[in-house]
Amino acid sequence: STRGRPRGLRLRHVCSSTGQQRRLLNHFISKVPEPTEPSPPSTSSRFTLAVKDNIATTTTTTPSHPTTCASPFLSTYHSPFEATIVTQLRARGARLVGKTNLDEFGMGSHSTHSAAGAVSQPRTPSSPPQPDQNQTRHNNINEDDEYNDLSLLSAGGSSGGSAVAVLTGQADVALGTDTGGSVRLPAAYCGVVGYKPSYGMLSRFGVVPYANSLDTVGLLARRAATLQELMIGGRGGKDGERFQGLWREGDLRDPTCLSAAARARCAKGREGYDGVAERKDGDVLRGLKFGLPLEYNIEELDPGIRDAWAEAARTLQDRFGARVVPVSLPSTRHALAAYYVIAPAEASSNLAKYDGIRYGTRDTEVASDAAAGGVLYAASRGKGFGDEVKRRILLGSYTLSSEAMDNYFIKAQRVRRLVRRDFNRVFALDNPLHEPETFDLADLDESIALEDKWGPEEVDFLLCPTAPTLAPKLDDVMNQNSVDAYMNDVFTVPASLAGLPAISIPMPAASGKATNGGDGVATAGLQLIGQYWDDARLLAVADAVS
Ligand code: GLN
Repeated sequence: STRGRPRGLRLRHVCSSTGQQRRLLNHFISKVPEPTEPSPPSTSSRFTLAVKDNIATTTTTTPSHPTTCASPFLSTYHSPFEATIVTQLRARGARLVGKTNLDEFGMGSHSTHSAAGAVSQPRTPSSPPQPDQNQTRHNNINEDDEYNDLSLLSAGGSSGGSAVAVLTGQADVALGTDTGGSVRLPAAYCGVVGYKPSYGMLSRFGVVPYANSLDTVGLLARRAATLQELMIGGRGGKDGERFQGLWREGDLRDPTCLSAAARARCAKGREGYDGVAERKDGDVLRGLKFGLPLEYNIEELDPGIRDAWAEAARTLQDRFGARVVPVSLPSTRHALAAYYVIAPAEASSNLAKYDGIRYGTRDTEVASDAAAGGVLYAASRGKGFGDEVKRRILLGSYTLSSEAMDNYFIKAQRVRRLVRRDFNRVFALDNPLHEPETFDLADLDESIALEDKWGPEEVDFLLCPTAPTLAPKLDDVMNQNSVDAYMNDVFTVPASLAGLPAISIPMPAASGKATNGGDGVATAGLQLIGQYWDDARLLAVADAVS
């Protein structure tokens, strides 16, 4: 029985000569063997790619790798097709190096809820090596090195394996999924760049759904410029050859992926996309207005991160000639609760198909008993899902039940609209998908409706931390209760609820104040959030700032 100890916390321990417990990073679930012969120049890859294991891949190499979602249910599942995003990246020169470890189905914030065991990052609190942005490989980090168990830090989640693959230099680019922060949070903890595009920009065909109204494919790399090149259009190829930016490519197989016409409409007049003059490199930030959302300055915010955030704002102003103003996003304080109602509700519906018949490993003992009837589902699901996934299914089933629906699910949807409205009001650009208000504010809880919602308007980007703390120690994470774990997502879920593009870039956290036990300089994540479809400028700004 796994009762009492959350499933997925099976650590891959090895015994060292000193008898101390040591373990590996455990960031890959399966790896593609290195090619034995160099590929001919015409097909040579431009970059290495790691793919989160909830994104379908097919392979021509043997042994082929499954798409497991880090779930016992899918441990042997081989997808018959490949996700569109993987095919798109291959067409741009990606060579797949492996499938990365995650929280089961993307549900978690530390990559500890995995059937493959917890992920850890190679940086330790006392000696966090800084990723050298210009270096292509980090030779000082080796996944096969053993690390002292006690000193290990969380890689963040749920795309923790992808962030570590980028940090170790094993992948130039890694794919993750970001439903409520799963690309940005691991990027912040690991000191790399993590980008969540506008909802509907990248195809999710072949990406195993968690919560459809929130799910996005996200990308991680050491530098924002790498992501900018892939998303907006590359100069990267041989002989300066350009390839088409991913933002242009719709996909009829994903109905939420914007059509060509909608893309053109959203990009119309927007800076950074083709057809509109781009700013010169040094000038990207001049005259831009950044908003500091006051509600993000919460009590739980690590003082080292608060200082770093203020320092980033000063740098923008003094060095780059940008303007920084305080703004108010009053619904933010309800966003986390709304997210943890909506995401599990959608998850409980999505995961219904894992019944041991249509999908997932069947419980063969029960299956052979013809008289067992419906018990087969229960037996298969009981064995096939980890504890955190079961918790989400129960939560979601409850909030969708007739007795709880009005008080939870419907309220959460209303909060979601308020979160969206807050964002639309502070951005200078209009939201091309803006919907008129169709509900009566008086219906809402008074504490929401009567807030003062009027602050300075019209900023270009919002600037805030990605997470309230630095990467915590894995030991602490494993003793944390679920609600405390959900707190890590407090700064990332608002952009997810509103479908906005957001990126986390590394910033040095004030030394001496790091709460993960470090005494050196540690990196925290600085988050930039943009208006819907303002991805091109967001990436350019992230590149200029980092
Ligand atoms: N930590 C959040 C959750 O567990 C976000 C996960 C994600 O973005 N996939 O739901």
